[in-house]
Amino acid sequence: MEKACFKKRALYLFLALLGLGITSCTQQLPLGPVNMMVIQPVGPSCQYQIKSAPLQTMENISNLQGLLGRVVVHPEDLESSPDILQLGLGFQRLDVQFSGSNGSFAPLDKDSLLGASLYYGIETGYLLFKNLDPAGDLLNIVPNMRDTYIVQNAELKSQPSSSELYSDNAAYAQIDGANGKHDYFLHFPNKNILSIPLGFNAGVLIHEYAHMVAQYLFHNKRSEAGKNLSSESENTLAAFEEGFADYFAFLATADPAFFHCSFPQEEGNRDVSQPKFLTTGQLSSITSSIDFDSHEGGAVWASVQYQIGQLIGHEVNGRSLVRFINNLASCTGLASSRASVSFGTLKNCHLQALGASNNTRVQQLYQNAFGAAGGF
Ligand SMILES: [Zn+2]
Repeated sequence: MEKACFKKRALYLFLALLGLGITSCTQQLPLGPVNMMVIQPVGPSCQYQIKSAPLQTMENISNLQGLLGRVVVHPEDLESSPDILQLGLGFQRLDVQFSGSNGSFAPLDKDSLLGASLYYGIETGYLLFKNLDPAGDLLNIVPNMRDTYIVQNAELKSQPSSSELYSDNAAYAQIDGANGKHDYFLHFPNKNILSIPLGFNAGVLIHEYAHMVAQYLFHNKRSEAGKNLSSESENTLAAFEEGFADYFAFLATADPAFFHCSFPQEEGNRDVSQPKFLTTGQLSSITSSIDFDSHEGGAVWASVQYQIGQLIGHEVNGRSLVRFINNLASCTGLASSRASVSFGTLKNCHLQALGASNNTRVQQLYQNAFGAAGGF
């Protein structure tokens, strides 16, 4: 019985690390939901613990498959054939090992721990949006969410002409193919990160999940004309979306510096609790689209949301932002036409979603961060 679960002797060491008393070894893993030992954030300043978390939407832990998608691997570079991402072909289940009983399980090797943590991070993002507002429940919107692939250690060239592969990064992508749209969460291998690898940083996975929310609640509602914008408008929207994703990652982890748990040395400040201001240089790069970094602009937007949350409550602000993004295509006019979008446009749509168009303190926070550079 034991041999079936413990493939390698080293796995005993891993169990000691988890500190979990394993009383039985199940060959028939349950379908789900289950409680699973995962590495998770438990507070600010990069506090992490290995502890049990409910995987509420898990349907089959042998396949790491649930309502929100399936954790998979692919043996090839994802762009080595158009069939892979466009048709969703060639993805394989992970060879996972879990042990436990009574609905509580622990991964028995590093890949299984990583796979369970990836699913846990995506589920945490799903529950955050759904619990804030029913409009944020993607299971009511995405027609085939079970078919979403969460790709562990994806191989992808960082430039088509280069042999260098992405590492120490994560992404959400929606790819159009002959048989419909395919949604992917891509987790790239850990190369240089010495602190919290991205697959264990729930904030990073929630950031990527927020991009999927933006895809379905905003981008999919844009008309054809509304997809043909100036680079200034698209840069502004890209910056807002990065900040939106960072703010929700903070909401779920309670760690405003979640990003720096994996990138302590990273230049640029992604700590949402640190006030930031759009500089004239950033504004001109948005306008001219030269060297524009949407994450930098997004960090300013996220810092404003943090300050608004401190003022009116983060849950109230988070709820307003789900309404905001759900209504953004119509509020900006992009649902039916081509329009220009500035940070001022986004501010007005947020105030509308807050039901506080005359809230001068909220307006002042936007003004402080964006107004000096003439952002609106
Ligand atoms: Zn992003």
